[in-house]
Amino acid sequence: MTTNTNTGSDQVFRNYIGGEWVEGNKGSVANISPADTSDVIGHYAQADKAQTEAAIVAAEQGQIEWAKSGLEQRYSVLMAIGDELIARKDELGEILAREEGKTLAEGIGETYRSGQFFHYYAAEVLRQMGETAESVRPGIEIETRREPVGVVGIITPWNFPTATGAWKIAPALAFGNAVVWKPANQVPASAWALTEIISRQNLPAGTLNLVMGPGAEVGDVMINSRGINALTFTGSLETGRKVAAATAVNLVKCQLEMGSKNALVVLDDADLDNAVECAVNGAFGGTGQKCTASSRLIVTEGIHDRFVEAVVERMKKLVVGHPLKEGVHIGAVADARQMEQNLAYLELAKKEGGKLVYGGEVLNEDTEGYYMQPALFTETTNQMTINREEAFAPIACVIKVKDYDEALATLNDTNFGLTGGICTESLKYASDFKRNAKTGCVMVNLPTAGTDYHVPFGGRKDSSFGPREQGTYAKEFYTVVKTTYIRP
Ligand code: NAD
Repeated sequence: MTTNTNTGSDQVFRNYIGGEWVEGNKGSVANISPADTSDVIGHYAQADKAQTEAAIVAAEQGQIEWAKSGLEQRYSVLMAIGDELIARKDELGEILAREEGKTLAEGIGETYRSGQFFHYYAAEVLRQMGETAESVRPGIEIETRREPVGVVGIITPWNFPTATGAWKIAPALAFGNAVVWKPANQVPASAWALTEIISRQNLPAGTLNLVMGPGAEVGDVMINSRGINALTFTGSLETGRKVAAATAVNLVKCQLEMGSKNALVVLDDADLDNAVECAVNGAFGGTGQKCTASSRLIVTEGIHDRFVEAVVERMKKLVVGHPLKEGVHIGAVADARQMEQNLAYLELAKKEGGKLVYGGEVLNEDTEGYYMQPALFTETTNQMTINREEAFAPIACVIKVKDYDEALATLNDTNFGLTGGICTESLKYASDFKRNAKTGCVMVNLPTAGTDYHVPFGGRKDSSFGPREQGTYAKEFYTVVKTTYIRP
């Protein structure tokens, strides 16, 4: 058994399979902070194919028992997990900030939010209602009810390591399913910490399994398994396509949340101060590593120059630095590969004719890590690669447009469709935008990033596939409907 303390640099944190903590058949990997490469958070077990298959079998067994549990047991388990996440938000938020690079405030906020997901789904446990119907045949009664889908495979990305796990595990357990969870290998500590909390609850062995390891091995087994009944994935479009293709072969239910190229529209009549806050917060929060980030700023001619000037002034006040340092607004880039990608997109934007008006420098901090000054480009067009591909970087590009109609057309001219925002004082434009933005979420006078935990979340086009996540809508994915005919 490992201890509960999740910060020992020499310690090996094991996988959790069938109610046991087990060594990785493929050894372990070091979890190194991107904010300080001398900071080793711990070593994390790496599962192989056989261990992943064993976790799926354990989940099949666990699910049978968990599905028999009473609603009050499920409610208590979910409440207890939520309570502990919230009570330990500072400690776990710090681990999250160290391993992912986001600021301490963001790490604490994410941990708190994760607790709220468990509390929300604790309440959903008690709201599982069926329906009755009259039959077209006399003397027959009909009822429809939802049942657990079975074993849920969960594959999560590195940018929200605790929250993404939480918003998938909580509904999975609430509706009586068992889970096999594969977190991203860059951020295993947050996943391990959440698993450790869950491991101490009143759950049958095998109800929750943690299999850390590479996507190409552990993830590959999961997406090709017939033992998994539903697979929920958050990550890149490239991997999402592989997940969809593999699960389709076995006709396994699948839900994908992927990348985006979100835009914030700023109209001439916008409240300038609010528009600047929305842009800076939406584009650079979380170091720009959010699927909801506003990487495109579509601005009408009349406000363009004033807006750009004000955004640059605001960006000058952003403090980039070690995530745990007080007063820091922007933490570290997640890893060397992401940093390399950010710098490549910066160069590409310049080459394509974008004008870098602020930022983009690689910064040297007291610790060896991956730090970058957020960057703003102007004079970009919506056809440039920088405005078509997701960079996942603290880089925002301004696209100047004539009027609202051109702004809306530009916003919709993309393969993605997660969030879209507009800053305007006009009810007419806000109402039209709300109806015609081809995105899953619309924000009016708010940043494109930042959503609630009790309502559906998801996008259109290449951003999402399958049923919506979160809120009551989650039951579409985590349950199956049964229709029963009774002749009394
Ligand atoms: P990624 O696709 O590289 O990895 C996501 C997960 O898939 C990881 O756990 C990884 O190990 C696993 N994986 C990799 N190859 C696999 C394979 N062949 N089979 C099965 N699993 C495999 O994505 P990432 O770099 O970790 O995350 C960043 C991406 O996530 C961005 O595109 C971002 O927009 C997206 N994201 C989307 C949302 C959303 O809700 N829409 C939220 C957060 C992040």
